[in-house]
Amino acid sequence: MSIKLYNTQSQKKEDFKPLEQGKVKIYLCGPTVYDFLHIGNFRGAITFNLIRNWFEKSGYDVTFVYNYTDVDDKIIKRSIEEGVDSNVISERYIAEFEKDFKRLGLKKHDHNPRVTDFIPQIISLIQRIIDNNKAYVIDGEVFYQIEAYEKYGQLSKKKLDELEAGQRVEVDTRKKSPFDFVLWKPSKEGEPYWDSPWGKGRPGWHIECSAMINSLLGDTIDIHGGGIDLIFPHHENEMAQGEGATNCTYCNYWVHNNFINFGDQKMSKSLGNVVKARDFMNKYHPEILKYLFLSAHYRSQLSVTDDKINQTVGALKRIYAALEIAHIINHEVEQTAEADGAFVKTLNSLTSKIKKALDDDFNTAEYISYLFEATRAFNALKIATKRKPTHKATAQAFINWMKEQGELGALFEENPTQILDELDEMLLKEKQIDKREVLNLISEREKARTDKDWGKADELKSQLAALGIELRDGMKRSWEVKIGAE
Ligand SMILES: [Zn+2]
Repeated sequence: MSIKLYNTQSQKKEDFKPLEQGKVKIYLCGPTVYDFLHIGNFRGAITFNLIRNWFEKSGYDVTFVYNYTDVDDKIIKRSIEEGVDSNVISERYIAEFEKDFKRLGLKKHDHNPRVTDFIPQIISLIQRIIDNNKAYVIDGEVFYQIEAYEKYGQLSKKKLDELEAGQRVEVDTRKKSPFDFVLWKPSKEGEPYWDSPWGKGRPGWHIECSAMINSLLGDTIDIHGGGIDLIFPHHENEMAQGEGATNCTYCNYWVHNNFINFGDQKMSKSLGNVVKARDFMNKYHPEILKYLFLSAHYRSQLSVTDDKINQTVGALKRIYAALEIAHIINHEVEQTAEADGAFVKTLNSLTSKIKKALDDDFNTAEYISYLFEATRAFNALKIATKRKPTHKATAQAFINWMKEQGELGALFEENPTQILDELDEMLLKEKQIDKREVLNLISEREKARTDKDWGKADELKSQLAALGIELRDGMKRSWEVKIGAE
């Protein structure tokens, strides 16, 4: 069965057919680097990381380009505020973005082109559009003439007359149509500029992606991605530029991810205005962000609420706790025998289910549910405190399966003990409980039990329970923090 994906342009799911056998060319619009990125900006990066991994797992050779917009009004504004060159700002936030990206454990892209490295290619693409009579020059400014490109609106399904009716902004009377957009503009005093056939200036926003695609991937690409907010005008304009220059199809499949929702009343209370990915990862954990995002289909809106974050922490704790147990069994049992047959069968059937889910327009919500199902099946074996040769092989089967399936979403690659400790620390901090207090109560209870003072031991157990600490007698991880439904 082939991979099916939803194409924004045709508005339906289509069978993926590559331009070139066994290869996929993907371009995803990257960030404008003028500040730390909002967590919403990472929905695309996390989704497309999985999409890329899934194509690779399905036997494709993927070339993935993700650009950095390093010339832009917002960058220039910030550079003026700080009294530094605009490249100081863009370099700084590229470095910060790359830190976040690395912390999320996402796979490096094949190319991260920057606008400032592609000026000659941008100029030559603009020239080809002009030569094709689809752009015109006025006072050192180049405009794309959308009426010369009859397919304009094919992606966003917008019609020019409707656009015109909704137009309220002031119109530049030099333009042939109010919707003609800028390919090249003269730089203002103090702004970065490059020499061009039309004078000193800088590129408009949309042209960079078309030029980078053309130089790095060719006239036509397989998949172009981005957030749904980019469909119009950015992607519509990109397509007009690409096709206006080459007369070839720009892209075969347009894949757009939906928003992250913070705006409604259900918005996370404890998160408050902490919506930068850096702050989220500091307050919570990168794994939470990935699991949370992938637990919803990329085309649906996702509200980030306290409940959802709690559910995610709960799910991660359960899966990692099972993995920790599997590692302990694997470590402590020396001899091995064949793994539990029924369990292996369950894992194999879940592998097929994951394939079916991801082949069907990358249904990560189902993918996540199958990871959880495997954990449930492992826990149901009730081998946590048993040590038989067959358990070693069973534990290994679980570890290997989780590694293979988890890495598709860059999940479950952490050391289980370490992340469980980190998640517990995070929960204690949230409850404003001092860990030393917990450890003291636990050791007092241990002492009471040794002294056979059962009354006191019970009392201490209730005190711990009141703090949200659950005791796990007999287990290596002897206590954990419960996720409070406060
Ligand atoms: Zn773009």
